[in-house]
Amino acid sequence: MPWYSPFPVIAFFFGLIFGSFYNVCIYRLPRDESIVKPRSFCPGCGKTIPWYENIPLFSYLFLRGKCSTCGATISFRYFFVEFITGLAFGFSVFHFGLSIKSAEFIVLSSLMIILFFTDLDERILPDEITLWFIPVGLVFAYFSMERTVLESILVAVLGAGGLALIAWIYFKVKKIEGMGMGDIKMLALMGAFLGIKAFLALLIAAILGTIVGIFIIYVLKKGKRYEIPFGCFLSIGTLVAYIYGNEMLAWYVQRFIVH
Ligand SMILES: [Zn+2]
Repeated sequence: MPWYSPFPVIAFFFGLIFGSFYNVCIYRLPRDESIVKPRSFCPGCGKTIPWYENIPLFSYLFLRGKCSTCGATISFRYFFVEFITGLAFGFSVFHFGLSIKSAEFIVLSSLMIILFFTDLDERILPDEITLWFIPVGLVFAYFSMERTVLESILVAVLGAGGLALIAWIYFKVKKIEGMGMGDIKMLALMGAFLGIKAFLALLIAAILGTIVGIFIIYVLKKGKRYEIPFGCFLSIGTLVAYIYGNEMLAWYVQRFIVH
C-alpha cells in the first residue's frame, strides 16, 4: 500500500477505539465480569466515566492520567494498550493491504494483545479468547492461500496435545506445574490461525522466554519461584511468525536443507 493512502491512518483510529474496549476485556475477563455492563467507572470513586472522558489517547492526555472527580491515578497502561492496538491495525492495512489477510491479522493481533496483558497481570489466558476464537481461526483458514482448514485443525490438536504431554511429564518429574491449561489452549488457538507456523511461534516464544527467564532469575534476582507468564511470549511469537514466518522458514530451508 502506498504511503499516501489514507486507509492505514483510518485503521489506526479504529484501532484506538477497539484498544479502549480491549482495556476493559483485559481487566474484566480474568475476573469473570461482564465486558458489556456496567459502563467504565473509576475504581477510586466509582464515578461512571462520561463519553468525553473516555476518548482514546486524548482523554488520558487531557486528564493528565487522573480521574477528574477524585484525582486517582489512571494507569498509563490504558494509553499504551490503545496506542499499540492502533499501531497493529494501521500496520495490518499498510502491510497486507485491504485483504482477508489484513482482517485476519487485525483479529489475531487483537487476541494476542488481550492475552499478553491478562497473562502478565493475572497469569490467566481466558477461555473466552483462547477457545472461542479457534472456530474464527478455522474460518480464516478456509479463505487462506497459505494453509488449509485441515492443516489448522491438525496443528491445533497435535500442538495442544504435544504440549499437554510435555506439561504432564514435567509435572511428574519436577512435581511442579511448568505450564498451565491456558498455555495449551492458547497453542490450539495459534494452530488455528497459523497452521504449521504455530511451531515456529512456539520456538520463538521458548527462546524469548528462556532469555527473559534467565535475566529475571540471575540479574533481577527474583528467585526461581517467579512464575514466567509464558502466554506473553506466545503472543509475541505468534505475531512474529504471522508476519515473518514465510521468510524465516525460507531462510532456514536455504541455509540448512538446500545446499
Ligand atoms: Zn475517581
